[in-house]
Amino acid sequence: MKGYLQLIKELKHKPTSPLLPKVIDQANKSMEKVNSLVNHLLNISRITEGKMKLNLSRFLMADLIKDCCEHIASSGTHQIVVEGDTTLNVYADRDRVEQVVINFVNNAIKYAPDSYRIIIRIEKTDKMVKISVQDFGPGIAKNHLTQLFDRYYRVDAIGRPNSGLGLGLYISAEIVKLHGGEIGVISEPGHGSTFWFTLPLN
Ligand code: ADP
Repeated sequence: MKGYLQLIKELKHKPTSPLLPKVIDQANKSMEKVNSLVNHLLNISRITEGKMKLNLSRFLMADLIKDCCEHIASSGTHQIVVEGDTTLNVYADRDRVEQVVINFVNNAIKYAPDSYRIIIRIEKTDKMVKISVQDFGPGIAKNHLTQLFDRYYRVDAIGRPNSGLGLGLYISAEIVKLHGGEIGVISEPGHGSTFWFTLPLN
């Protein structure tokens, strides 16, 4: 970000430079990364000190999904399909649950860029609501699956830019556990991945 801002400073006397729009875009992207990094670190410190508190309310799960996927749907790069029972309510911390869904969907986009379709399912199972995010990307080898929700765990893949910290799924797992729910993944190389979590209905 610092580098891009320096370039912008140099280009401020050449506002017609064709470089300028690109550099501004890159500075914005870097800003988003810094923002996400700070949020991740704040979450981690709250979790390790046992200070993550839930602000519970009743809300429609389908509304939350609509809200956090609108920007992806409008970008046109991926198609988000919402399936299942769109009338189910949960009693949970809306902002925290949104964080989990956004993490799953962002990961689907990041790690399965060629999978145009992403399916989000809402189902009722016993006294829980199950939300799953399925992509049709490269999938994940079996030996990684149990460690994916560990702090700092990342699957190294040749040719993939090392853009993550390996904290998103760990934070998601902590949020879900605080609600009394469960989290998991079903995946097979070549057959995509389905990340899921459950939340209590009441
Ligand atoms: P980060 O994205 O910062 O690396 P996460 O905790 O969100 O951290 O993810 C951990 C790892 O799980 C990622 O590095 C990636 O290798 C793998 N992963 C997560 N989601 C997917 C997915 N949908 N398809 C393939 N791999 C995934």
